Amino acid sequence: MPKKFVRMCPECNSTDIKPDMSADSYSKGLLNQWQCNTCGHTGLFFPEYTQEDLKKIKEKK
Ligand SMILES: [Zn+2]
Repeated sequence: MPKKFVRMCPECNSTDIKPDMSADSYSKGLLNQWQCNTCGHTGLFFPEYTQEDLKKIKEKK
């Protein structure tokens, strides 16, 4: 079974992430920018984790 990767916000650890489709990121050519729906953080670097890794991270809290 292939592992499923989930993107996570580096600021608040939320997995409620969407691609940043704002005109601003397009004008800068940042087509791979992401936005967090929880805290509003935007950035190019949103780390990806497997479901297993996420479980471990959340258990540590
Ligand atoms: Zn966030």
